[in-house]
Amino acid sequence: MILASLTWSEAAKLGERERVAVLPLGSTEEHGPIGPLGTDFIIPDRMAADIESRISDKVVILPTLPYGVAPALTSFPGTVDIGYEAMCSVLKACVDTMLRCGVRRFLFLNGHGGNTAAIDTAGLYLYHKGGQAAEVDWWVLCGQMKQEWLCGHGGGIESSVAKAVRPDWVHPGALFESQVVHLSDRLRNTHIHNVEFQGLSVKMIRDAADSIPSGDAGYGDSPSRVDEQLGAEILRAVTDYTVDFIEEFLTVNLSRRHS
Ligand SMILES: [Zn+2]
Repeated sequence: MILASLTWSEAAKLGERERVAVLPLGSTEEHGPIGPLGTDFIIPDRMAADIESRISDKVVILPTLPYGVAPALTSFPGTVDIGYEAMCSVLKACVDTMLRCGVRRFLFLNGHGGNTAAIDTAGLYLYHKGGQAAEVDWWVLCGQMKQEWLCGHGGGIESSVAKAVRPDWVHPGALFESQVVHLSDRLRNTHIHNVEFQGLSVKMIRDAADSIPSGDAGYGDSPSRVDEQLGAEILRAVTDYTVDFIEEFLTVNLSRRHS
């Protein structure tokens, strides 16, 4: 079911059967040379629509949240950062709304890593009210499925999946050279805030405009390899997995609690 399509009296009956509330969320932020600003929310938005078409009676899909927590990216034009506190407030409001409808299982279908701290906070908030939350990060899933699907920020994998969702929003012709400014010769950035030292990773926080001036970084995932067919394959794989996960989530007994 799609929450926005229901009347309030239909919403009142959502809890008459077990279902999972699904909130697609992401960010409006820079995504490298070719990725659209909406990359992080259009992907979960599409996944949620596909999930709804397959298991409509087991889910209720909330409207997609297009803004997120992205304070390191605001030097790039077009990035919207609503901050951690605002994000927590919105997520808790969504959780409370579903609880009032009798829905206690909640899946955050996430497209942006910066949202995770707020999702953790809202998830524990739900747990203490008798519910259970889950977070699916599609780009983490695909990197675990196949080594060659490791997904950097604004790189080839993410842009490919964005192109599978909105072919008209990704323009390979806009490509320019990727640029990473390492913190020093021996502290080399492997991602926006991650540097490698003696083969291991440490976080060193900078404004992303200083560490990744082209806006893309991570795992050698160049935006030059954008491929719509590959994006469609990844989208299908992570959506299939999420459908299976939701079916399993529905079997979890919520009455068990630590004292
Ligand atoms: Zn992204």
